[in-house]
Amino acid sequence: MKTVPKYFGSLVFDDRVMKATLSAKVYGSLKKTIDEGTPLDIGVANAVATAMKDWAISMGATHYTHWFQPLTGITAEKHDSFIAPSPDGGVIMEFSGKELIKGEPDASSFPSGGLRATFEARGYTAWDPTSYAFIKGRTLCIPTAFCSYGGEALDKKTPLLRSMSALNKQALRILRLFGNNTAKCVRSSVGPEQEYFLVTREMYDQRPDLRFTGRTLFGAKPPKGQEMDDHYFGVIKPRVAAFMEELNEELWKLGILAKTEHNEVAPAQHELAPIYTTTNIATDHNQLTMEIMQKIAAKHGLVCLLHEKPFAGVNGSGKHNNWSIATDAGQNLLSPGDTPYENAQFLLFLCAVIKAVDDYQDLLRISVATAGNDHRLGANEAPPAVVSIFLGDELNAVLQAIETDTPYAGAEKTQMKLGVDVLPKFNRDATDRNRTSPFAFTGNKFEFRMLGSSNSIACANIMLNSAVAESLKIYADRLEGAEDFAAALHGMIQKTIRDHKHIIFNGNGYDDSWIKEATESRGLLNYRTTPDCMPHLLDKKNVDMLTSHGVYSQAELRSRCDIMLENYCKTVIIEASTMVTMAKTQIAPAVEGYTAEVAKGAAAKKALDTSLACSYELGVVKKLSALTDRIAGKVEELEDTLLYLQKAEDVMAQSAMIRDSVLVKMGELRVACDEAETLTAKNWWPYPSYADLLFSVQ
Ligand code: ADP
Ligand code: MG
Repeated sequence: MKTVPKYFGSLVFDDRVMKATLSAKVYGSLKKTIDEGTPLDIGVANAVATAMKDWAISMGATHYTHWFQPLTGITAEKHDSFIAPSPDGGVIMEFSGKELIKGEPDASSFPSGGLRATFEARGYTAWDPTSYAFIKGRTLCIPTAFCSYGGEALDKKTPLLRSMSALNKQALRILRLFGNNTAKCVRSSVGPEQEYFLVTREMYDQRPDLRFTGRTLFGAKPPKGQEMDDHYFGVIKPRVAAFMEELNEELWKLGILAKTEHNEVAPAQHELAPIYTTTNIATDHNQLTMEIMQKIAAKHGLVCLLHEKPFAGVNGSGKHNNWSIATDAGQNLLSPGDTPYENAQFLLFLCAVIKAVDDYQDLLRISVATAGNDHRLGANEAPPAVVSIFLGDELNAVLQAIETDTPYAGAEKTQMKLGVDVLPKFNRDATDRNRTSPFAFTGNKFEFRMLGSSNSIACANIMLNSAVAESLKIYADRLEGAEDFAAALHGMIQKTIRDHKHIIFNGNGYDDSWIKEATESRGLLNYRTTPDCMPHLLDKKNVDMLTSHGVYSQAELRSRCDIMLENYCKTVIIEASTMVTMAKTQIAPAVEGYTAEVAKGAAAKKALDTSLACSYELGVVKKLSALTDRIAGKVEELEDTLLYLQKAEDVMAQSAMIRDSVLVKMGELRVACDEAETLTAKNWWPYPSYADLLFSVQ
């Protein structure tokens, strides 16, 4: 058997392969493009294309595809084979630099939010040389950006790359001010922790709700859920272990640094965390990870549920976005350094993040907004929909000392003079255990915990990178012109703490009293649902910030707002329609059938002996008859709200109607059906129960 170091990255056209297959000149030039973003010339592209093709063919590939991330949230690919006819009637395998750099998929089937209509009908894909090409099956996959001919981004990679370059530009300005003249670039890195559920294929197939919507729309509470925490600490079940083993192998072959895997809080829930890497690569890798999880699960007779809330009353799944910024030399800018100067620089970057998160709370909330994630945020399991920052007691005390010009009551009780004193190393604070903060400082990085499990991590990082770039820009503008650098720096850090300390909260984010305090006394935003937050994407301050850094154009923002709301509406409408069908064609008939059977039994007993009371049967018949009527009534009401949606003037109005009426009626229908489930004999119920699903995988 091959050892992991032998096969790690074996399906990737990575640095090792490039070095081995490219001439020194071509390699050097490509490396410069990758590391410093210098433009690529066509001669180099041709040489890379040839090497890439030869390598891919030697690995058994016959096709190539420009692999990209349209706004649907999943990845897309269109396969072309390498073959080209040769004059002798045979074929040769061909792939040019032009084909490597640019592709032209038919863009019409991807959402554009009106962009294509306004600009140009076709789109094109452009190679992202900073993310390695890899092989999937028999296809060479080339990570690409996807744009319209007018240059408008139709995908998530383009704005992500733009946000990384905005952050790079502003962070370098700050580093130069601190005398760092050697750093060539600054990049953000991410380690996304991915949660998911596993259920058996057999049970999944019996549930139209899971098949059509990825979540259960009905299901009574099981007698045992996650109360005992026994799943979290329990051993990994053999079938799950076999799945994880194969998953790791596949991910490692693709150069994905899958590192830890464990059970999560809910039964049947698990987590996979990779080692962090550059943000655009981490984004590509997370998309691949989600795809491969589903593929491997299928091989094991399982289904991997990536929905944020597959089961009501049971913890949902999120994705923790561990984020930091570092120089090309490997200096983590969110890590307190060893010298006073480094510490002052650390505090400035820390303040930039605090200011960014406070000024753009709405953008962070928007970046994780989907119909699925609305079920998590604000329920007592995930962070609330209110954005706040956790710093931990130690760092908090340092900031307080700076704010008030008082001695820092740390180990040595010294006055915190910026640029003079050495800060202690901040370990992850012990109080971070509760994990209720949406945005927590964890020693040398921030953990943004509001992402849903199925979200692409691109959106959150686009907003994070851009908002921090904006803080840094404001700082750099001020500091570059300052006469007394140290005084200006101190003043600015102090001002940031004073102006933005209301976003810092170290208590329990799940507590109702926090929401009251956050919204009433602190004035923080609380956008509970997607229709609540999404329109604010177009608020002037947000548009100004994002366009000024070149991350989005105004038209792109408008189109994204439309697409996100459209997705929300479509998702809920499919769910509602699935509920109607399930209730009408399976649940009501099952309840009715069982009721009739019980009634028949009672009648038969009475016929034998009229003195028998049959109170059990009569009780069941009465309750279930009433419930069937209620179900029928609720189905009608839900259908009415769906019809009413057609009256909506636009997608914004429609999403608000969905939030205010469709979702409410769905909830009412569900309550009636779930109650019927608890009263109906199991052999009559048309679906596997929550207990069956959650404890099905051994
Ligand atoms: P946990 O949060 O589960 O306690 P860790 O803090 O060890 O675990 O790491 C969680 C994730 O954070 C991992 O994916 C890890 O690679 C990532 N991570 C660690 N350091 C950084 C960093 N400097 N930047 C971004 N991600 C990081
Ligand atoms: Mg974590």
